[in-house]
Amino acid sequence: MLGTIIAGLATAQPAAAATAPTGGAQAGPAPRLRTLQCRTACAGVSTARAGSRVRITGRSLLGVGSVVFTGGPGGADDVAVDPLLARKTYVDARVPRTAVSGPVVLVSADGAESAPSPTPLTIDASAPAVPSGSGGGLKIDVEVQGNRVFYGAERKARVSYLVRDSQPVTVAVELIRLADGAAITRWEPGTVPSDTPQTITWDGMAGGRLQRDGRYAFRVFATSQSGVTASSAQTPAPGAPAKAVPGSFLFQRNIFPIRGPHNCGTGAAMFGGGRGHQAQDVFAKCGTPLVAARGGVVKFKQYHSRAGYYIVVDGDRTGYDYAYMHMRQAALVDQGDHVYTGQRIGYVGDTGHADGCHLHFELWTGPGWYSGGHAVDPLPFLSAWDRTS
Ligand SMILES: [Zn+2]
Repeated sequence: MLGTIIAGLATAQPAAAATAPTGGAQAGPAPRLRTLQCRTACAGVSTARAGSRVRITGRSLLGVGSVVFTGGPGGADDVAVDPLLARKTYVDARVPRTAVSGPVVLVSADGAESAPSPTPLTIDASAPAVPSGSGGGLKIDVEVQGNRVFYGAERKARVSYLVRDSQPVTVAVELIRLADGAAITRWEPGTVPSDTPQTITWDGMAGGRLQRDGRYAFRVFATSQSGVTASSAQTPAPGAPAKAVPGSFLFQRNIFPIRGPHNCGTGAAMFGGGRGHQAQDVFAKCGTPLVAARGGVVKFKQYHSRAGYYIVVDGDRTGYDYAYMHMRQAALVDQGDHVYTGQRIGYVGDTGHADGCHLHFELWTGPGWYSGGHAVDPLPFLSAWDRTS
C-alpha cells in the first residue's frame, strides 16, 4: 500500500554538478577522552568543586558540543554544559554547581559520544562556589546550562541558582524574552535554604504556547527575611547586546537536519523542480550525520525502491510531518519511537533512486504525509534553520 502511495515520489535528478559540495569534512570520529585535570578554583590537585575550570584531554575534541558530568549510575544526576573552549586535543569546561563526582563524557555537536573518562572526576561538594557580589548580606549566584537550547531536545533550558544569606530566602524566578524584555513565565519556589543549589527547567512553553526563537534569560529575585531584595541581573534594555546578559541562552524550535557541510540543490532539486518534486534536495557527503529537525513520533520507517531508506516524523507541536529520504542505511530509530530534536536519526546516503548523496526532505501539512495533508516547499524552513543552527 505504501509502495503505491509513494510511487509518485520524485527522485533526485542529476542536479547541476556545481551544486554538489566539494570536499568538506565528513562526520568526525567520536571524541576520545584521555585525562581529566582541574585547572582553576580547585579543591585539590585532582579534585574540582563547583565553579572549577577543568581540562579534558584526548583526541578528536574540536567538535565537542557538550561536556556531561555523569555523576553516579543512571541519568538522573547527569549535568551537561557547553565547553568553555574546544580544541583538537583538549576541552575546558566549568564544573556546574549541580555536578557530582563521577566519570565525564564528551558529546560532539553531531551527537557522537565518547566513552566515559577512565577515571572519575572527583568533586568536593563541601566547597561550593562563592556567589558573586561583594560585602555581606543577601547574594545570588545564577548558572545557566547551555548557551543554546532546542525545543524538544533531550537537554532542556536549565538554570541553577544559589542564594546566600543568614536565613532562608524567598525566591521567584522569571523567564525574560530579551527581544522586548517581556516576562514570559514565572516560577515561585517560595522559601529556599541558604547555600543550597536549586534548579529550574523550562521546556519552551508558556501559557500553553510554544515560544518563539530567540534569546531568553532567567532572572532570580530574592527577598531576605529582613526585607532586603536582590536580583540576579538588571533587566536589559530591549535591543541591548543580549549575549552579555548573565543567565541568558538562545532558544530555537528547530535544528538544521544535516550536521556537516551541505548545499541546497537548485533547479530540479527544488520543490516542484519542473517534475512535481515534493521536496527540497540537500546535497552532502554520504555518511554526514542526520538529526531530527524537530522531535516527534516516527510514523514510518521503511525502504522503498525510489525513496530508499526513509523515515517520516510527526513533528511535535508543528502540525507538520517531516520526511527524510535516501538515508545510507535503515534509520537509527524505529517506527513508534519518540525522537528528540537534534537526535541522530541516520546518515546522508544515496539509497533508492538517488543521483548523488543527498537528503530528500519533505514537509507535509496535517493530517500528514500521504494521509490527507499536502507537501509544502521546505526550502524557506531549511534556510531559516540553516542560518541559526
Ligand atoms: Zn528529492
